[in-house]
Order: sequence, then C-alpha cells, then structure tokens
Amino acid sequence: EAASPAGSGGGRRRRVLLFPVPFQGHLTPMLQLAGALHARGGGGLGVTVFHAAFNAPDPARHPAGFRFVPVGEGVPSADLVPSGSDADFAGALLRIDDRLREPFRECLRQALAEEEEEEEEGGGAAAACLVVDSNLRGIQLVAEELGVPTLVLRTGGAACLVAYMAFPVLCDKGLLPPASQDKAQLDMPLDELTPLRLRDVVFSAPAMHGNMTRCLQRLVDAARNSSGVILNTFQDLEDSDIQKITSGLGVLVYTIGPLHKISSGTESSLLAQDQTCLKWLDKQEADSVLYVSLGSLASMDEKELLETAWGLANSQRPFLWVIRHNMVKSLSHEVSLPDGFEEATHGRGMVVPWAPQQEVLAHHAIGGFWTHNGWNSTLESICEGVPMICRPQFADQTINMRYVQEVWKIGFELEGELERGKIEMAITKLLCTEEGRQMRQRARDLRDKAAKCIEEEGSSQSAIELLLKRIMSF
Ligand code: UDP
Repeated sequence: EAASPAGSGGGRRRRVLLFPVPFQGHLTPMLQLAGALHARGGGGLGVTVFHAAFNAPDPARHPAGFRFVPVGEGVPSADLVPSGSDADFAGALLRIDDRLREPFRECLRQALAEEEEEEEEGGGAAAACLVVDSNLRGIQLVAEELGVPTLVLRTGGAACLVAYMAFPVLCDKGLLPPASQDKAQLDMPLDELTPLRLRDVVFSAPAMHGNMTRCLQRLVDAARNSSGVILNTFQDLEDSDIQKITSGLGVLVYTIGPLHKISSGTESSLLAQDQTCLKWLDKQEADSVLYVSLGSLASMDEKELLETAWGLANSQRPFLWVIRHNMVKSLSHEVSLPDGFEEATHGRGMVVPWAPQQEVLAHHAIGGFWTHNGWNSTLESICEGVPMICRPQFADQTINMRYVQEVWKIGFELEGELERGKIEMAITKLLCTEEGRQMRQRARDLRDKAAKCIEEEGSSQSAIELLLKRIMSF
C-alpha cells in the first residue's frame, strides 16, 4: 500500500482512532503517538481521540484537526479511580474497561456513520484502525465487532510486558501469590526473567491478586489479538525483551520510542507545570541538583514526608522537589513541611506542586533523579542521561528499578523504611561519589543511543514509517 503521506496523493484520506487510559502516564504517550502520526501523515491523517470524561485532555492544546470524543459522560469518575486504602489500580483499570465499553459502542457507531456521510460529501477520512491502550481489551472487542482493526499501545517497557506474559505461568507454578512474606522466598531469582526476583512480580497485595490476574490476562489478550503492538521503548535499550515479545505474541511489534523525543507531550499535562523552577535551575551549577518526583499516582505518608524533608535538608545538596497536591496520605488535616525546613534549605531547595519534568531533566543543573520509576519517568531520565535513586511502589515500577540497577547500572534502589540518614547517604552516593559519576556516564551513553534511534534511518524512525504504512493499509 502507498507509503506516501496520508492525504497528500490522490489516495483515500484516512483517520486513526485512539483510546487512552485516563491516567497521566497513559494519556501522555498516546497523545504523543497521535502527534507523531499526524505530523508524519503530511497533516492529512485525521485523528480522533476517544477518552473518558474523567482526566479529559484539553482539545485547545492539540492540533486543530484533532477530534476529541468524550465517552461515558454519565459514568461517575469515582468508579474509575483506584479505591481502598491500598489503592487497587488493577481494579480501577478493569472498571474503566467495563464501564466505558457500552458507551463506546454508541460513540464509535456514531463516529463511523458521520465519517461515511462526510466521505459521501467528498470530505472526511475513513477510519483506518483504533489504537487502544493495552489495558482496554473490552474497548478493543467493541472495535472488532464493528469491523475496525486494532493496534495496541503498551505504555510501559518491554521487560514489563515480558513479565506480564509470564504471570499466568508463575501463578500456575504456585509461585504467585507468594505463599509467605519470607525474605529468602521473595528474593528467589526468576531464571527466565533475569534480573527479576519473585518480589519484583508481586504486582499487588494478596487481596487484589484476583483483580491483578484478570487485568493482566486482558492486557496480554489485547496484545495477542491485535494487528500489532506499539512499544514506547527503543531497540538498543531492550533488544532481547523486544525479541521475546515478538516471538511470544506472534504479532507485529513496532518499537517507536522514546515517544516524548519524537513528539512533544507537555500539552497533555493534566496539572499546571510550574515554569519558575527552570529559572531557578539556571542559577545552579552543572550536575548539582537532585530532582525528586513520584509521578502522578504514587504517594507517601506523613512520616515519610518528614524523613524525606530532613534527608534532603541534611544532604546539603540543592534539590527540586515535587509535592503533588494529593501526594501525601493524610487522614484529616492539611499536610505541611516540618518547622525549620524552610530555614535549613533556604536558597538551596525549591518545592513545586508539579514540574515541567522533561525540561527539568534536560537541564544541565540536574545531577540525579529520585524517582518512583514509572516507565515514562524512567525513560525521560535515560533520554537525558540522568542517573536515578529508585523508590518503586507498585505495578511495573519494581521491574523498571531492577533494570536501572542491574542491567543498565544507572541507579540504585533506596530500600526499606524511609529514614533521613539513609536518604542523605543515597543522595551523597549519587551526586558526590565516583560510583555515582560512573552511573551518570552510563546514563549518558544510553542517552546517546536513544538519540541515534530517533535520527533519520534510526530504528524508531523506521518503525514509525512502517507503522504509518500499516495504518494506511487497513
Ligand atoms: N510529570 C510531570 N511533572 C511532574 C511529575 C511528573 O510532568 O512534576 C510527568 C512525567 O514527565 C511523566 C508523567 O508525568 O511523563 C508520569 O508518568 P510515569 O509513567 O513516570 O508515572 P505515573 O504517573 O504513571 O505513575
């Protein structure tokens, strides 16, 4: 089928439909993918984004040609967010997929009918396919029913998908959920998933194991039953895991990351980014500042906040700390920083509610990143050559941490209870020792490899071209 940009030749105009999961770490890569395809389609490839009313993207911040269709406006947002004291993310993902499924059927029918009308009138663009988040198997089934082929976007790393594919086998072997919290058992290496240990694939508390199992089953089913899987990673970073996915799923795999370097994602930030921190960073020395952020969902309790504050203060190093409005779990009262913290860190630290993270990480003043190891944060750090202090909490975060520490050797885990002395030592190790310097050097080597993948003829650029051809061929 024609490789020429969509809509530029005499061929039929096409439209790509997309459906992201309404969480920051999922929305951003999906919208970046939309931007990348739109730009390469010569501006002629139409884009329709179906989305939950909850955490809806702002159409005004995207290209004028993008259509946005809210799905399930009557569904209460409380149904779609993680609930319970141990936030049940798997349960929330299942509910999103279930509650939006029927409303989506109507929305898709209507969109297809409108397109047909527009085509008859000589304008319009026919739907080529739906790119669906890997967590939305139910949405994928609706598209299939209505004759729309699907591609699946996996917003996490390749290693994580390999672990998800192995999850049922580990359950069948009786390894999951783990029989006990015995340290030796949890530290057991998983030979076929090196460098992962049993504890790295315990994705949920025992009470939520059922939801996690169902969630991962849907995810792998969605990938297997798609016309292709799109990965936001790059070949030189995860080559062997990408190969395992290709052979294990038996579908085409398009490795097109790092998406944020191919297409800007700042316009998809759900919270306002404090730009003044960039000016503050301008005044700091190269490689001197620790950037601290737990992403959009991870949290800490008040005691951990206190220890973190004093760990940062006592380290005597400059820091930029993101304290998101709902980051600290508090039962009743407004959370505040400890007395004396302001004075102890005056001029040396900055606290913001949300940062322009990609620009922050790209700033020459940043010397390290204390991260929860969400995949986007991990990838963004790698692409700027920034080494990490890792503090994973749930889902794929422990897997990402293991790769950072054991495979790429560009950071290390801050383990166990958060305690100010330990935090201070970790910061010193990352920013002030030869070991930390070597981690930074390895991170910079990976940054250079990422840059090569997105150059013309680079592996990710070539994969996007192939993906575009595939979309035009449906
Ligand atoms: N992010 C941001 N400002 C912040 C913290 C995070 O823009 O202060 C962005 C970050 O750049 C990343 C996303 O939020 O793209 C978080 O995604 P990730 O996969 O790292 O974690 P999640 O929020 O899904 O746990």
